[in-house]
Amino acid sequence: MTEIQALYQQVILDHNKNPHNFGTIEHADCSAEGLNPLCGDHINVYLNLEGDIITDIRFNGSGCAISKSSASIMTTLLKGKTIAEAEELFGKFHDLVTAEMDDQFDTDELGKLAVFAGIREFPARVKCASLAWHTLKSALEGKQITSTE
Ligand code: ZN
Repeated sequence: MTEIQALYQQVILDHNKNPHNFGTIEHADCSAEGLNPLCGDHINVYLNLEGDIITDIRFNGSGCAISKSSASIMTTLLKGKTIAEAEELFGKFHDLVTAEMDDQFDTDELGKLAVFAGIREFPARVKCASLAWHTLKSALEGKQITSTE
């Protein structure tokens, strides 16, 4: 394992152990439930909006370290962002985890999302990493439930 891979793995383990924004929002403006039956991941995402700005975002549920850390990192990135910015980040994240192994990315631009670059090696775990993002999208679109299958 390279030094950078080890660092990324540590970030994932840290977020799994101490997830950020873990909990619920009572009377959230929108929320959705996400399921990844392949792995057994199950998360809920809650959002409060002011106009098109995400003023609060929380998640809860249970799942593997990848799904939980991805949700945790997503919430830290999206608080205070607009819906359009959130969609743009989802696009970048999606491109990253579905890219070919030898594709190069600008890790400065990706910021914390870069920790998921290694996921490309494990196609089965891509659904774990993207579950929170798909659930967020469902919440913003007013869908109550999303499943990766
Ligand atoms: Zn999983």
